[in-house]
Amino acid sequence: MSKTRHSSNNDVQAMLLRALIDQVPDQLFAKDCESRFVVANEAAARAVGQSASHALIGKTDLDFYEESVAHTLLQQERAVMFEGLSFVDVEERSWDQSEREKWHIATKLPLRNGRGEVIGLVGCCRDITSRKREERLRAGEAAILECIAGSADIADVLDTLLRLVEVECSGISATVLLLDEEGRRLHSGCAPSLPHSWIHAVDGVVIGEGVGSCGTAAFRREPVIVTDIETDPLWEEFRDLIRPYGFMACWSWPIFAADGSVLGTTAMYCTEARGPTPTETRLAAFATHVAGIAIQRKKSDDRIRFLAQNDALTSLPNRFRLEPVINHAIRNAAMRQSEAAIVFVDIDGFKNVNDDLGHRAGDHVLRVIAERMLSVLDARETAARFGGDEFVVLLREAGLDNSVTLARVAALRAAVGAPIIIDGHTFHLTTSMGVAHYPRDGETPEVLIANAHAALFRAKELGRDNVQFFTIEMKLGLEGRLFRQEEMRRGLRHEEFILYYQPQVSLTTGLMIGVEALVRWQHPTLGLLAPGEFVALAEQTGLIVKLGDWVLRTACRQNKAWQEAGLPPLVVSVNVSARQFRERDWVARVAAALAESGLDPQWLELELTESLIMQDPRRAVTTMQELRDLGVQIAIDDFGTGYSNLSSLKTFPINRLKIDQSFIRNLPDDQGDSAITAAVIALGHQLGLSVIAEGVETREQMTFLQQKGCDDMQGYLYGRPMPVGDLQDMLRGS
Ligand code: C2E
Ligand code: MG
Ligand code: MG
Repeated sequence: MSKTRHSSNNDVQAMLLRALIDQVPDQLFAKDCESRFVVANEAAARAVGQSASHALIGKTDLDFYEESVAHTLLQQERAVMFEGLSFVDVEERSWDQSEREKWHIATKLPLRNGRGEVIGLVGCCRDITSRKREERLRAGEAAILECIAGSADIADVLDTLLRLVEVECSGISATVLLLDEEGRRLHSGCAPSLPHSWIHAVDGVVIGEGVGSCGTAAFRREPVIVTDIETDPLWEEFRDLIRPYGFMACWSWPIFAADGSVLGTTAMYCTEARGPTPTETRLAAFATHVAGIAIQRKKSDDRIRFLAQNDALTSLPNRFRLEPVINHAIRNAAMRQSEAAIVFVDIDGFKNVNDDLGHRAGDHVLRVIAERMLSVLDARETAARFGGDEFVVLLREAGLDNSVTLARVAALRAAVGAPIIIDGHTFHLTTSMGVAHYPRDGETPEVLIANAHAALFRAKELGRDNVQFFTIEMKLGLEGRLFRQEEMRRGLRHEEFILYYQPQVSLTTGLMIGVEALVRWQHPTLGLLAPGEFVALAEQTGLIVKLGDWVLRTACRQNKAWQEAGLPPLVVSVNVSARQFRERDWVARVAAALAESGLDPQWLELELTESLIMQDPRRAVTTMQELRDLGVQIAIDDFGTGYSNLSSLKTFPINRLKIDQSFIRNLPDDQGDSAITAAVIALGHQLGLSVIAEGVETREQMTFLQQKGCDDMQGYLYGRPMPVGDLQDMLRGS
């Protein structure tokens, strides 16, 4: 009875033990001294293709493995049992029945009886094939990423990648296709083991539904798994084409950029009609990911290279590319013993487009102009964007008497001048151009560009919308100007500019009511220069903005100082040039000058000319209104010399008219001037404006003005423009 219970206990234990070892995923086994299986678990049976473990008992590896493999294993086991070989955690590679590579990690130890004699061995073995593959992929990935980071050629990177994938998936041919810039066509990126003729046959296919696996995957933006090319409708069009190559299935995965756009596809061609195994799917995902990184890297490299040499807005070569491009043209011309022309192009009034319609419209205009210029050039000619609204065009031939250049330049002007419609408005742009010829006007890119620029400068001086060919006189003139310009910058830095003040008096009370600030340049070698000698240049070069700011701030500060010194309050008049007035933050600058000096705005008057206002009356009125809102006064200077139509005068938010001195000069003898002056005074009063006459030199002139009811006057009769100290003395009545 007890014996039965004992034996049934043993049975239960054996059963549990059996169940336990069969549960273990690793192969476990014991063998006798002849390497025959004594015990084996189910994992060990599965490893040799058997469904039950008892099928192994009494057998050796010779029964399950190819002879050479089995002999190696048997020798190994003998060495473990009889030669004391240590065999712990040894990694081994083998191939299964379907020639697939397998990796194991195995431990084999001698088995001893109670007396310590070796009676066999115990072993345990784990399949590490997938871990090995992962390791290899990771190592491969690291190597490939290193290549990508090192800016290796994309073809090499993809080749390494796909070869890695193909080693891992036997019977598969992998490929990466790249989508072109327009996102329309697929081109071969790499296909290490696909037949050339097939790659060639499908290169450049337009993506879409039913365009094989890849064309469809790129189009649908999702993986397309075709398990049987013979029957799948997606392959309809290509079926006959691929048949000779023996591929039965094709699986394709789209490659995405970080922004979600499709860069291309990864595909696997398979000689069996089936879908991908999980391993193949994982490998495809891996390849797709790495290919995505490589392609993006290449694209950004290309973009950087492009941007370094081209203008991002118009895609034209930029000024850095210009020199090599001109050099190339020069060499060609020299070889053919012909000429070449460099045309410097400037879009007239482009600033207004930007200011009035915004920078987006400005960008649009520049792009359109670039396209139009290219449309009249032939393949060997180039247009480059020099910067802003300046372009440089390179023409191949000049012809006798510049005849060819003239015709080409006319074509360029016509192209650019064609109407442009922006926001429903039609614009006609004009251009100023300067031309320099190789070799006549220079033999290096540097000289040619400089000379074409000098000619452009002249074209602008002549009122824009015209073409000038370079002459040596231009160069001298320009050099003189450039020198002056540098001088002026230096002068500003060294505070060589000073303000003179000219009194303004009331014709009714005879009291000084204001002063006009007039700038002078105390030049270290040339002496005191009047505005006539430098203001025009300052306007052309834009230096007037800096100079004008200085005048404004100085005048405000000076006026405040007089008031603080207890002198009777005066209005200080400051001249404003068109260039200053156009500055976007002009009103803010005026406010800043007032705030900084502490001057009450009512004691500042800004003198604008009619021509300044008429350049863009709508904008001018807005700006004037903003200035009036600040509390400053506005006068129209040199009134009568411009073309403002008198009816628009009443819409201007101004306080005062300043009759130009040319009308005053011949008073009262000249009947015409007398009539005009009287009319302006009457008109001003009717509009509620005060009127001041400028350039009053004689008593007769003053009397005439008084009779006509003119409010104030300014002129040598009462006082010349004078330094601060002299004016102070005059104010103090000394
Ligand atoms: P404007 O604003 O019409 O200034 C009046 C000019 O007439 C001054 O010449 C002044 O010296 C001169 N003038 C005054 N009374 C008489 C007179 O009785 N007879 C004669 N023959 N001339 C007289 P100036 O100082 O040479 O200035 C010339 C122009 O330069 C100014 O004309 C003004 O347009 C410009 N300007 C002067 N200072 C500045 C400035 O700070 N900024 C700007 N943008 N322009 C200025
Ligand atoms: Mg003035
Ligand atoms: Mg004036």
